[in-house]
Amino acid sequence: MANLTDLSLYIHIPFCVKRCRYCDFYSETGAGVELIDKTLNALLISLDASMSHLKPDNISTVFIGGGTPSIIAPASLNRFLKKMNSWIGNVSEFSVEVNPESLTRDFLEVLSGNNVNRISMGVQTYDADLLTWLGRPAGVEALDRADNMLEEYWQGRLSRDLLASLPGKPDRLLKDLNRALIGEPGHLSLYELTIEPGTPLAGNMEDLKRLPDEKSVLDEWSMALSFMAERGYTRYEISNFARKGNESQHNLTYWRMRPYLGIGPGAVSTIPQDDNRIIRRQEKRDLLSWLSDPTGSFSESTLTSGELALEHFMMGLRTSEGLSVNRFRAVFGMNPAEAVPDAVDRWVSSGTLISDSVSLRPTSDGMDLLDSVLSDIAAETDKTQWPEVCLWPQP
Ligand code: SF4
Repeated sequence: MANLTDLSLYIHIPFCVKRCRYCDFYSETGAGVELIDKTLNALLISLDASMSHLKPDNISTVFIGGGTPSIIAPASLNRFLKKMNSWIGNVSEFSVEVNPESLTRDFLEVLSGNNVNRISMGVQTYDADLLTWLGRPAGVEALDRADNMLEEYWQGRLSRDLLASLPGKPDRLLKDLNRALIGEPGHLSLYELTIEPGTPLAGNMEDLKRLPDEKSVLDEWSMALSFMAERGYTRYEISNFARKGNESQHNLTYWRMRPYLGIGPGAVSTIPQDDNRIIRRQEKRDLLSWLSDPTGSFSESTLTSGELALEHFMMGLRTSEGLSVNRFRAVFGMNPAEAVPDAVDRWVSSGTLISDSVSLRPTSDGMDLLDSVLSDIAAETDKTQWPEVCLWPQP
């Protein structure tokens, strides 16, 4: 197996209290303690097998997400984390996603006692009507209770998630941002609501009619950007804001195209092999079939050099730091600006991208034009002569 100096680890907990009306992540509802414990055991079996196979020198970050990890009973979580920690050693950033309705003091104590140093809490909004409209399992009381609990019992790092582009009054997001920044969490994620095909929201015309028009969405977004900047949060990725030093190291792994291992139903991994192939691994999205073979329920494909290059652009240009010229050159033997010269020239001239000897990166306005930039780049990567074999250097 490739000499992995650093690996990030994602664990998917595929359970939720109920399905939110906009969500298309994989999760099951109504699971009892027995099924959750069985899944945790299977996750450990799968992790053990992958770690024995990959033998990374170091696990740099861990993210336990879902689904709703806070649905796990504290005693079960304690057993799970102790076992996991005995394999992975000291991790610089260890995050767990939590939901307000299931967060308890015992759960927080288990996290603190097992090296978890960051919580990411899904809030989405503090508006009672919108929480109902979104089908969130938490109402305002659960949110108040969770925020109070975090203030009293959580000493680690904290991020909250909010949603933009929701129906309603223009000042709704401003109120939510003010509330979400109480206690000055180091990090905030602000995602635009997207209507995913097949979700209950996508199938309801009355709901769709309530969505704000394009101008309202843009006005709200620009207000949110100004507000976050005034409050001292840097937009370091399209949807992510942090005070200095509080950026999500785990998510930066994805955006910097570093190796990561995903374990659990629906999880994805990107891992280099001994022969320099870069493998994309996708675990089955169905819990019962995943449980029947937790170490073998996945499909694998080898990324071509062109696919890998396009992913470098797609991931790197999401961030304010952009694509590292040195790393891109080490992987593909050329600068990003040499790889797609016409697209880079065009978007640099329009003030959307900056290209220098350090990186190819978006300007602050350019971050919001990423879709157009990427479609231009994608069209040009098809014509680029990529090397047959790429090396995927470790940090
Ligand atoms: S709690 Fe999160 S993962 Fe679960 S259905 Fe809602 S948005 Fe999706």
